[in-house]
Formats: sequence, C-alpha cells, structure tokens
Amino acid sequence: MSAEPSLNDHERALYSRQIRLPGVGEAGQLRLREAKVLLLGAGGLGSPVGLYLAAAGIGLIGIADPDKVEISNLHRQIVHGFDTLGLPKTISAAEALGEINPGLKVALHPEGFTVDNAAALVARYDIVVDGTDNFATRFLAADACVLGGRPLVHGSILGAAGQVGVFLPKAGCYRCLYPVMPDASSVPTCAEAGVLGATCGVVGSWMASEVLAVLLGKRQASRLFVIDVDAGASRSVSLSADPACPSCGPAATLHSLDKAAYAPVACPSPPIMADTPLEVTVEEARRLLSGPTPPLLIDVREPDEYAVCRIAGSRLIPMNSLSARLSEIPQDVLVLVQCHHGGRSMRVTQFLRAKGYARVSNLQGGIDAWSLRIDPKVPRY
Ligand SMILES: [Zn+2]
Repeated sequence: MSAEPSLNDHERALYSRQIRLPGVGEAGQLRLREAKVLLLGAGGLGSPVGLYLAAAGIGLIGIADPDKVEISNLHRQIVHGFDTLGLPKTISAAEALGEINPGLKVALHPEGFTVDNAAALVARYDIVVDGTDNFATRFLAADACVLGGRPLVHGSILGAAGQVGVFLPKAGCYRCLYPVMPDASSVPTCAEAGVLGATCGVVGSWMASEVLAVLLGKRQASRLFVIDVDAGASRSVSLSADPACPSCGPAATLHSLDKAAYAPVACPSPPIMADTPLEVTVEEARRLLSGPTPPLLIDVREPDEYAVCRIAGSRLIPMNSLSARLSEIPQDVLVLVQCHHGGRSMRVTQFLRAKGYARVSNLQGGIDAWSLRIDPKVPRY
C-alpha cells in the first residue's frame, strides 16, 4: 500500500510562510517538490532565479552554463563569490543553491544548452528558465520549448530596462514576438551598455516568481512584462499565438532544431535600446511631434479604424502589412508606433527593435489615450 505523498515536519516548518499563501498550501508545496526546472545561464539573472527557486523548495534544478566564474561577474552574479573564481559556473552555482536548501537536487550541464542537447534536456524538465545573454541561445530555447511542449520563462536586461516573458505551450511563443533573430551588430552589448546588479535582481526575482506561478497553475496565458527600473515603471502585455509564427503557428516552418539557424552571435542584449524608451506617454509624444525634428508616427491599425480617427501626420501601415513595407520606415529617425490602445503597437515596436531599429517607441494607450488626454476632437470608438 503506497501512502499519499505528503510533506514532513521539517518541510512544513521550512516552507510555512509560503504554504499559508492562497494558491500554495500543502498541495502546492508538493507540486514544487515534484517540479524539475531547467535553468539556462547561471549569471546575472540565473543567480536570483536559482536562489529563490531553491529556497522555495523546487525538487530538481538543472543548471546549464558552459562558462567559468570571472571577477567581472561578481558585482551582479550573486550566486558566485571570490572563493569560486575560475570554477565552472555550474559547480559554483550548485554549491550556493545547496547551501540555501540542502534538500535540493541539482543536475549540472556544464556543456551548456546547445543544438545537440536542447531537445533531450527540455524533455527531462517541466519548465525552462532562460537567463542567457545571447540571441542564439534565446531562440534555441524558445524553439526547443515549442517543439517539446514546455513552458518557458524568459528574462533579459539592458541597462535599467528589462523584460520577463512567460510563454505557455500553444499560447504564444517568443517567436510570436520576435519572428527572426536580430542581427548581432544592430544592438548594443551588455558590456557596452553596463548593468547594475540590483537590476538583475529585480528582473531575476520577477522571473522566479513567474516560474512558481506557472508551476502552481496560476498562469493560463502567455505574457510579457516590460520593466524600466529608472522610470519606476512596469507594464504587462498580453500575448496570443500569432497565426503567422514560424515556430508555433499552423504553417510553422520550424520543425526541428537546425544548427545553422542558431549560429552563436556575441550579442547579449534583448531587442531593447537603452537610450530610447520602449514606451512614451501621449503627453511626451505631443511634445516630440511639435518639436523641431518630429518623429515618424506610424499607425498600425486597420484602414477602417484609420478612417474613423487619426492623429494628424500619422502614416498608416497596418500591422499585417508591416513586414512587407519595412523599407518605408527609415532607420535613422525616431519612430513612434501607435494603435488603438497600445497593444498591437507594442508588438510592432518589439518587432522593429528585433529587426534592428534602434530608435522606436510605443505610444502608451494608443489613440484612445490621445483622444482622452490630448485632443478630445479625435473621436473615440
Ligand atoms: Zn509563436
């Protein structure tokens, strides 16, 4: 006769403050104990992710990272220390996670996450957390999770800006946001831009809480969180599966992991540009549009919406035709993207950034906010 799984007294004491949370309870804690999490990258983001997941009682954490600990890592990669300089990051991280929770099982993957092992690794875990710093691994992780039917929590950071993506199977994937891997030369690197360790802490902690939420069954939709630590702002964007997505759409073209598609490129930043905000308010947009060098304002709504109302001077390029009309958008001017409420235009903004546009911002709240706060003569619908 096999007994139902239950927590022992030690575990009840250790996790008492989270067990009492609604949505966790003993059943939730048992789910975390059963969970197997694959952590890609034991760096600036992987450090807080790993520590918080270990402390929360995840049963098994796999750590994939091919690098060794260097002195320039230590200001932000808090899982490592001076005593582990020169050691493989997998070993250094495993020691720290084991200290914070001796009951944790750790699997080391010092070969890193590669085209050769991606599918097999993803299959061994329940969820993948991507804190890596290069596009090749990010896209590989995204595609491997789609093919393997695993949820992916992704994080990236540049300067004071970060994003956390939660991509659930069949609910919108990373490539629904970024269909193609950006050219490495088009975005600044982390080394060029610099980063505060505390910013990694904010984004990494956010990733860890999303991993726990997914494992506890609290997430039903894919989402992207955009975080600007300097501005003290964060925003959640709902995602849905893009029918044209090359990875998860009905006409997907990616059916296997092809080595040539993930050639390593040294480019650790997300498609976020440090000096151009991801979003601007309608007030800021009005200031820019009435300035000496007004930005190009692109309206990505449908023509029938454009016929109802428009912001003077905007150029209509409906979202669906954007890929085919990229040549109409110059790279050397500031571009503002606008739609009805700011959702579609956020996707287009992300898309353009992924395409290498360095100066592109979303108009927060869209034409509806413009009508409410700037020009009431613009009809609302
Ligand atoms: Zn997709």
